[in-house]
Amino acid sequence: MAFLELTNISKHFGRSTAVNDITLSINQGEFLTLLGPSGCGKTTILRMIAGFETPTIGNILLDGEDITYRAANKRPMGMVFQSYALFPHMTAEQNIAFGMNIQRQPKDYIKRRCAELLELVGLAEMGRRYPHQLSGGQQQRIALARALAVEPKVLLLDEPLSALDAKVRISLRNEIRRIQQQLKMTAIYVTHDQEEALSLSDRIAVMAKGKVEQLDAPENIYSHPQTAFAATFVGNSNQFRGVVESAVDGLCRVGEQALRVSPLTQLHSNDNVLIVVRPEDITLQSEHTQDNGNSLSGTIELRTFLGPFTRLHVRIDADTTVIADIPNQQAATYTIGMPVFLAFAPQACKVLPLASTDA
Ligand code: ATP
Repeated sequence: MAFLELTNISKHFGRSTAVNDITLSINQGEFLTLLGPSGCGKTTILRMIAGFETPTIGNILLDGEDITYRAANKRPMGMVFQSYALFPHMTAEQNIAFGMNIQRQPKDYIKRRCAELLELVGLAEMGRRYPHQLSGGQQQRIALARALAVEPKVLLLDEPLSALDAKVRISLRNEIRRIQQQLKMTAIYVTHDQEEALSLSDRIAVMAKGKVEQLDAPENIYSHPQTAFAATFVGNSNQFRGVVESAVDGLCRVGEQALRVSPLTQLHSNDNVLIVVRPEDITLQSEHTQDNGNSLSGTIELRTFLGPFTRLHVRIDADTTVIADIPNQQAATYTIGMPVFLAFAPQACKVLPLASTDA
């Protein structure tokens, strides 16, 4: 049995459904991220685990015990919010000590533990400062220490890095992962930032409209997306709407063009599909050759230097522009207005079924 189990959880607010029949198992020590666009139900799931909301249907088991209706303050959870939520009139140390004081822990234990936690979050010298004397990143470290102080069985993090600037976000993200691994803490993290999810998680639950679209390791979410939504929400992508021509031969029709894809086992002729190709899987050629499986002709419209690579925007017809990421050394060869061929292998094409309801 998993450490934390959510079984057939739904949450309705009046007539609207925030969470729609979700079943999730989280292992002890696992870092699971709920990733999805605004309003897909991520925070509602976290709040049900924390005990701030009660599911309309379904139950939650922690370590084999049903905690579905247990009060929030009786659950062994630590929570970190986007807004830090530190007590402004208390020093960093007093904030960290807060939960331990409520637990009536001995004074010398609290003192020792505060020092340990300040050290753990890299703020050993700042225990006496008040929140307004700390930067946003430092306040969030204190909030993390405060959540860990009560030795929770599960750490819940709701977009904890969203309010921070890019540099601090990356360094604190690495710190969160280091601390979680060091403590072997079970963690559930909510974000709409795919890079954060990919870099932090053991597994990601990609969510849309109250449902989990795919639950998988980050590498699989990126390389083997199972739904059109997961393929387009995570990572940059080129998307072609098409129709399966031959599933056995791996052939799809996209407008006037035929694209070679890997043989399709789950799809049939005439199925509507979305074909997704990552920009780093496309190479540019100056002449038409199908050695690589697919070759589309187009004209370079835009060239953007992005640091580690250069992104080319290539127009292939009136409605379609394809992006291709190429090494900077090659970029100088390609100029705006130049005709080129985009080559990509059948294996680079992720072919996803397109439901009639997919926008
Ligand atoms: P965000 O990233 O914007 O925080 P989210 O994925 O965390 O979004 P939730 O906050 O879980 O989404 O909200 C899911 C849906 O439930 C939304 O449509 C939201 O408006 C609705 N909702 C959430 N809380 C309540 C509430 N207390 N009363 C009514 N509707 C609510």
